[in-house]
Amino acid sequence: MTENTTPPTNVSSEAFVGTGLPTPFGRGLRNTSATPLYCANHPTIATTLRCNRCEKPICPKCAILTPTGYRCKECVRGQQKIFDTAQWYDYLLGFVVAGLLSLVASGLVIFVGGIGFIGWFLVIVGAPTAGVVIAEATRFVLRRRRSRALFITVLVAVVLGALPVLLVRLLVLDFFGIAFQGIYLVLATPTVYYRLSGIQLFK
Ligand SMILES: [Zn+2]
Ligand SMILES: [Zn+2]
Repeated sequence: MTENTTPPTNVSSEAFVGTGLPTPFGRGLRNTSATPLYCANHPTIATTLRCNRCEKPICPKCAILTPTGYRCKECVRGQQKIFDTAQWYDYLLGFVVAGLLSLVASGLVIFVGGIGFIGWFLVIVGAPTAGVVIAEATRFVLRRRRSRALFITVLVAVVLGALPVLLVRLLVLDFFGIAFQGIYLVLATPTVYYRLSGIQLFK
């Protein structure tokens, strides 16, 4: 790295020229003193930037632009943890509960679908409802703990839970049964994911 013997004395957006970083609006640039600052992670790099949360001097390389200004990597990482509250056993709990309920639901789909024409209607109406029940039951055992990986684990469990019934239908070549399982998965899986995470899978 180049030795900067004349650190910038004026604080302006000029500090960002050539760094490839967009100029922040107000926040993030907080050098009130004329003494040069050096990056907390790179002691040889002079900088005019401070993390707007912990006030640590950071060089443009270490700065991450957030909606509220520039922050250091440590602060950004600390914030992300708030949205990731799942414990290791939540993956197990979520998987078992969602998987078992999906197994029951996929069995019900075959039973209901076998009624006849009205069965088709009931399966199409019932599948999203089954998704809601699975999601709410899973959320109950997880006690609102969440993470993206956990939602995906539950999603996989819903699909795997339907597999035993689907495989049996494939073995006996019950094409209606296979179709019912397909309808169930297509309708229930996005419902479960949306209910749990608030994120829509398909739009
Ligand atoms: Zn910080
Ligand atoms: Zn740095």
